Amino acid sequence: MILPITLDEYLKRVEVVNREFMNQLNINSKNPDREDMFKLDSAISCLGVRADNDIFYDVLKISSGTDDKIEKRTGNVGINVIYGQENGLNFRKVAPVEKAYDTKGFTSRSPIEILSESGKFYFAVDGNSMSEINFMDAPKWYSNEVNGVKASSILQNELGNLMGTIPLITKEGAGYQTCIYIENEVPCNFCGLESKKKDLIPTDYAEVVKMALDENSNTTVTLTAGNTPTKNRGIEYYSDFVKAIRKVSDNIPIEVEASPPTKQDSYKIIEELLDAGITSYMSNLEVYDKVARKAALPAKSNIPLEDYMKSFDVANSLYLPTYSVLIVGLEDKSSTIDGVEFLARNGVTTVPLPFKPVQGAEYQFRTPTNPAVFAEVSIQAVEIMRDYGVNPSARSSGGCSQCGGCSVECNRDRNFK
Ligand code: SF4
Repeated sequence: MILPITLDEYLKRVEVVNREFMNQLNINSKNPDREDMFKLDSAISCLGVRADNDIFYDVLKISSGTDDKIEKRTGNVGINVIYGQENGLNFRKVAPVEKAYDTKGFTSRSPIEILSESGKFYFAVDGNSMSEINFMDAPKWYSNEVNGVKASSILQNELGNLMGTIPLITKEGAGYQTCIYIENEVPCNFCGLESKKKDLIPTDYAEVVKMALDENSNTTVTLTAGNTPTKNRGIEYYSDFVKAIRKVSDNIPIEVEASPPTKQDSYKIIEELLDAGITSYMSNLEVYDKVARKAALPAKSNIPLEDYMKSFDVANSLYLPTYSVLIVGLEDKSSTIDGVEFLARNGVTTVPLPFKPVQGAEYQFRTPTNPAVFAEVSIQAVEIMRDYGVNPSARSSGGCSQCGGCSVECNRDRNFK
């Protein structure tokens, strides 16, 4: 029997575990070299950063648009920063920060903190400033409203990629942000998606994209959503949103991140999305090992692997770059590596993400991913992908898969040739 754990007990445990993780990571925080900076990147991805001081909160909120009301399905919320220049690096990061989750979140026990010295901000470990932080300003359009909704609640800016969840037709009716697995009470155990009514239409998303493009021409889009009870799991709902966005720009990269359609309908649906205007396709296996997959994704794991692979085959045959997330920390690291190899062999680029214990998820009291393991897996993943010629960090297709802000493989690939 699993004994219930209080939040306080959990956070104490996280603090102890984080200390052990940092010992294993063995960062030289006083005199860091490039590899130490990469270790720091991994630690930030897995454990987030602490910025408890309210003054920092104001600075972070204003400069990065951090909003504690935004959707936290994957836990990929945080401050948009560039850092590492002291070591000749150009690391782009969406750093999870306590205040972007909740004051009780796991990041409140992170060993990495933000320090302020002479009006500048630094990532620090053990009180040693390791790198200056260059905050990317929150877009001006964040405060605009579209259809009575704050624009930042429709699409979130992550290093120039606009990430948004589209409303679906579900068991609850039309225009819901939810997922059939949540409605049936078997969500993926790492998922913190909140079910809610979302009365937004495709042109609302297009309007936000137009505002973003007017401010920054280097903008890309990723659309995602939960699954539906329909035969093709919801991917059939994206094309109207893609078409609306395509109408405001001929060349903006648009990525769809969705569960695959059934094998039989793969060609029809992926071709429809291509005609609507997508430029890349992402469908996340999440976990590769069968047993671990069933444990972490009790319902989603029933989607046959063949459906994923058929959709990737079709997309690749139509020259659409293909991507899949594997979550590091929910299975043995050797299984994740096997998954990267399997995907690469089939022309698919892996996005290795660390598991994050987001509030509201079944796994909210699980400890975060070990950054030493995450760094090791990510380095191997980059090597495997290079060997197979699937590029982990080409920016041409844009989207979440090429942003790299929540992971480390893009920073590794771009900076360590
Ligand atoms: S498929 Fe899983 S991760 Fe995705 S929205 Fe549904 S429950 Fe959440």
